[in-house]
Amino acid sequence: MPKQEAPALRSCPVCGDGLLRLYRCGRCDAVVAMCDECELIWSDAAKVVRRGKTKSNAAFPACPACEAKRVKWFRLSLEEIREAGLESLLPSPPSD
Ligand SMILES: [Zn+2]
Ligand SMILES: [Zn+2]
Repeated sequence: MPKQEAPALRSCPVCGDGLLRLYRCGRCDAVVAMCDECELIWSDAAKVVRRGKTKSNAAFPACPACEAKRVKWFRLSLEEIREAGLESLLPSPPSD
């Protein structure tokens, strides 16, 4: 099993096929949730993780925080998620 570098938060509430992961904007450092299929972006990752159907704020490659039309996105690894204190957004690991 490869080491899971970028864990998914949940399935995408819009397209249903994609997975939401945390990304950091290379311009303003905002952390958002982005779908790997439909590329929609939610600036409030906690809200879309908890509530599911929530309107997205932007679509790749635009940033909803600094409003740049095109930014470089960096996918957060599990370690970076822990460092940012966002572990609570991840699904609970299996207990076995
Ligand atoms: Zn999607
Ligand atoms: Zn930004």
